[in-house]
Amino acid sequence: AASVTTGDLVAWIRAFRDAVQQHKDELTRLDSEIGDADHGSNMARGLDAVVAKLDPEPSTPTDLFKTVGMTLVSTVGGASGPLYGTLFLRMGPALAEADPVDAAALGAALRAGVEGVIARGKAEVGDKTMIDALSPALEAWDSAARDDASPAAASRAAAEAAARGRDATEPLVARKGRASYLGERSAGHLDPGAASATLLLEALSDTLAA
Ligand code: ADP
Ligand code: MG
Ligand code: MG
Repeated sequence: AASVTTGDLVAWIRAFRDAVQQHKDELTRLDSEIGDADHGSNMARGLDAVVAKLDPEPSTPTDLFKTVGMTLVSTVGGASGPLYGTLFLRMGPALAEADPVDAAALGAALRAGVEGVIARGKAEVGDKTMIDALSPALEAWDSAARDDASPAAASRAAAEAAARGRDATEPLVARKGRASYLGERSAGHLDPGAASATLLLEALSDTLAA
């Protein structure tokens, strides 16, 4: 389809929750290597709280993202809660009540969200954070949308770029967050937040392809 409905976006958030549940132990294991071993449980707890708020279904994409963002900020401790919360809180207003949304509008909302994460966390590409997955995903989305790709195709390109960005965090030395306390010893491990951010984009791609 050329446009994405509130129902599609609700399905995305549910699929993200399911993916995080499925990969919870893996996310926590990654965080045990360079952090404090709570990223899987932080995200799973937050997304369970989010899904509990999706019945009854929010009526617009803007309402949905507001609910998701506020719930993540208030239920996820640590760095990732406020950062993922900000991502969604910025996406909602960027859609300016559009319903349904097309590939360009959803890409612009993602851009507003990622810019919010960068403004809040001050991470750049190469700092070994979720930005290493999110930022290339955005570039891929925009480039697909400029070529008139469908939302499904744009999200597939974004998910593939996110996965490459996640994999590229392995050799990096962390410069933000807890992992940065390890200095050089943070090299040789994937960043957990880049892994969960890849799940977010893969969940969107899987939802829109279905
Ligand atoms: P905490 O580190 O507080 O325990 P989590 O384990 O839930 O929080 O999340 C850790 C992830 O948060 C990291 O893997 C990284 O991707 C992300 N992160 C940490 N600090 C920043 C930051 N300043 N900007 C962007 N992402 C960050
Ligand atoms: Mg942690
Ligand atoms: Mg923690």
